[in-house]
Amino acid sequence: MAKPMYKRVLLKISGEALSGGTGFGINNDVLKDISLGIKELIDVGVEVAVVVGGGNFWRGRTNKGMDRTTADYIGMLATVMNAMALQDSLENIEVPTRVQTGIEMRQVAEPYIRRRAVRHLEKGRVVIFGAGTGNPYFSTDTAAALRAAEMEADVILLAKNVDAVYDKDPKTNSNARKFENLTYMEVINKELKVMDSTATSLCMDNKITIKVFELSTENIIKVVYGENIGTTVE
Ligand code: UDP
Repeated sequence: MAKPMYKRVLLKISGEALSGGTGFGINNDVLKDISLGIKELIDVGVEVAVVVGGGNFWRGRTNKGMDRTTADYIGMLATVMNAMALQDSLENIEVPTRVQTGIEMRQVAEPYIRRRAVRHLEKGRVVIFGAGTGNPYFSTDTAAALRAAEMEADVILLAKNVDAVYDKDPKTNSNARKFENLTYMEVINKELKVMDSTATSLCMDNKITIKVFELSTENIIKVVYGENIGTTVE
């Protein structure tokens, strides 16, 4: 039987992907689908950490009239809503889960403690990281890169609402070119919309491979078993 390629993965789910195409709120079918995909990984012994975005509720940078740091903190709180929803969905199918947040909110989740998070992973619990890095001026992509480095994850699974990285938006350009492989420098120099440059640099400096693909159970499994879909950045 085929074996998973990775022992420990960090799955980054953008808030937008959770909205199921509407761009706002949480779609329960999407949540359920992701949870089933994560369960399949846990069942074969892959350790799964998750970083969730918050763009389905709020993006700091798009609220121009507001003080930036305040807007960013609101964005971080939005990610905690997504983290809790994913936890609930995973627990519904009996996957042991812990939420850890970059901003302390002890009534709803554990504070982020690296050693503790690693221990949860070793015990087969899914660790969902909410509140990004806990700092304004960063993104949840940067949180994904940071937590992947801290957890010593083998790969970042960057689940998006497009199937790969293109040179232009494939939804509006029929001649958009799809990339199968990219280097970190190409992502930065061509200003490709994979991750922001802070997150990409962090991955580059720490040699963390990024796999970009469209979010679905099927695709999560395919990537973990080494099937060539989407785009690989390394
Ligand atoms: N955010 C932040 N620091 C972080 C992570 C997130 O300030 O470490 C804020 C930022 O305002 C961002 C919002 O939270 O716009 C939502 O996160 P993000 O846009 O990364 O989510 P996604 O677009 O992936 O859904």
